[in-house]
Amino acid sequence: MVTDVVVVGAGYAGVMAANRLVSKGDGRVRVTVVNPRAEFVERIRLHQLAAGTGDAVAPLASVLDPRVGLRISAVTRIVGNSVPLPDGGELGFDRLVYAVGSRSAVREQAHTVGDLAGAQRLRRRLRELDAGDPVTVVGAGLTGVETAAEIAESHPHLAVRLLSAGPIGGGLPERGRRRVRARLRRLGVEVRTGVRAERVGSDSVDLDDGTALPSACTVWAGAFEVPDLARTSGLPVDAAGRLRTDESLVCVERPDIVGVGDAVAPPRRVAAHLRMSCQAAIPLGATGADTVLAQIDGRAPEPLSIGMVLQCISLGRRGGYVQTVRADDSARRWAVRGRLGASVKEQICRGTLRYIRSGDYRWAGGPRAGLDETDTGARVPS
Ligand SMILES: Cc1cc2nc3c(=O)[nH]c(=O)nc-3n(C[C@H](O)[C@H](O)[C@H](O)COP(=O)(O)OP(=O)(O)OC[C@H]3O[C@@H](n4cnc5c(N)ncnc54)[C@H](O)[C@@H]3O)c2cc1C
Repeated sequence: MVTDVVVVGAGYAGVMAANRLVSKGDGRVRVTVVNPRAEFVERIRLHQLAAGTGDAVAPLASVLDPRVGLRISAVTRIVGNSVPLPDGGELGFDRLVYAVGSRSAVREQAHTVGDLAGAQRLRRRLRELDAGDPVTVVGAGLTGVETAAEIAESHPHLAVRLLSAGPIGGGLPERGRRRVRARLRRLGVEVRTGVRAERVGSDSVDLDDGTALPSACTVWAGAFEVPDLARTSGLPVDAAGRLRTDESLVCVERPDIVGVGDAVAPPRRVAAHLRMSCQAAIPLGATGADTVLAQIDGRAPEPLSIGMVLQCISLGRRGGYVQTVRADDSARRWAVRGRLGASVKEQICRGTLRYIRSGDYRWAGGPRAGLDETDTGARVPS
């Protein structure tokens, strides 16, 4: 008997899950991916697309196994065992893989790099600006730092500043933060910490201390948020709207739905250390596929076990900082910086496409003792 599997979302996690299902499923599964566009968006390169130093789009056909079916559509509801499509059709399923990912929160008149349309709009705006125009990046997590550095390096005529309430590159150890700050200084980025942006206008940013900074273009690089498809479909979600699953990524109220990638919240004891990242999304997609195959075979699925390996930051095309981390995402001693760091990061970005294309992927195991044996709640957003 052939099992019909619908994968909603063709990002890193969804493509990995679909390709792994058909390659390990030995003809037992028929897989259809539903995605709003026929292109794969390399979100980890969207700051490059915005700055004009790279292209973040590839045809989905170039990453999906030819045995995987593709429907171009944005799913608006999951109803019972079918996915109604806006064109009036519907897709029935025996199993569904929920892989809708994340995007940047939208703030007033700010630009974003969290999704394709936002990055394309930012690219157009940057090209319109004149020498000396101020560009403000708000938020100095990894995405904000990468964006400020990329714009400053590729548009040296613009006055780029980076604003943050907390330290620059907050997840890095102090040594790493120093290196990142030094590189930003060399690129001419003005860094201001301890300030909070309250309101973003078309040509200014209001700070919490009452000052209004002139800003011809403002990029909001705060935390990611997830689509509300699970919530509007009446599926169980955490406070951030992520699908709640058990340790094997099975939805807590729907054994026929498995969640993967940024849009899911497995229990903290197996997933609290997993940042919303492509680094986690790829093994989450692979684990989700293995869970579906185990269910089909009547085997108990394995619990999630994913260890973090690196924190990688590009600092323009000629600089980067790659910090090795333990499985629980805490920093190890070893780090690579400068041009070598940039080259390592570039190789990793290229590697992601190879991994998801084959569906054959091995990854580091999670922290040995688990993070919190007593807790049963879902992971919190990073
Ligand atoms: C600028 C930038 C730099 C980054 N750098 C790094 C990095 O260096 N390392 C790292 O590990 N991570 C990085 N990330 C984070 C990483 O890109 C995400 O965590 C990752 O993309 C999550 O993968 P995913 O498959 O869960 O979701 P996504 O890649 O977001 O894919 C989700 C897919 O689902 C589709 N979808 C959404 N809603 C629907 C719907 N209703 N119906 C059908 N399809 C739908 C979307 O269109 C998309 O194709 C970066 C992110 C950004 C924005």
